[in-house]
Amino acid sequence: MAAQVPELWRTQLCIHGSGHRNHQGDYCSYAHALWELLPPDESTQRFTTAWRDGKVDRWYGQPMEAEQIFRIYTYACELHPADVPVWVRGALFYNRFRLNRQHTVSRNWSIYDQFMPWDYGLHADQLLLYRMRLEKKLPFEEPSDLWTTLRKRKAIMSEDCL
Ligand SMILES: [Zn+2]
Repeated sequence: MAAQVPELWRTQLCIHGSGHRNHQGDYCSYAHALWELLPPDESTQRFTTAWRDGKVDRWYGQPMEAEQIFRIYTYACELHPADVPVWVRGALFYNRFRLNRQHTVSRNWSIYDQFMPWDYGLHADQLLLYRMRLEKKLPFEEPSDLWTTLRKRKAIMSEDCL
């Protein structure tokens, strides 16, 4: 893994796993837990390519590579299901079909998902991104079916409450 610029510290999960700390004598700048993940620091400059090239593992609704989803899934499997962050559930829910095609997935999170917000907190997470960035817009192109998929989930959840 290449050394990261400070603005990209902890934007990706370390491929060496949660127990890793040092890399070739230096402190490893990758995240070793889901809660450590950060968006790029874009307060002074844009990192559009990092978003586009799958170097941001914290999910804000951006398109993700199958390898990213599998990294997130692998780290999530180390946690008790109740400790898996809401955004992780959203990323796994939205990308579940892609992940299942490419990788063996043994854990089923869905029993816990019925208690999650309909959008997995994505709207609030995106508002934070807007506020943090010099340019007040999302740094990526959202997949066209993202909000449609989440609103379908909302409709199903509303029916369950009747
Ligand atoms: Zn590491």
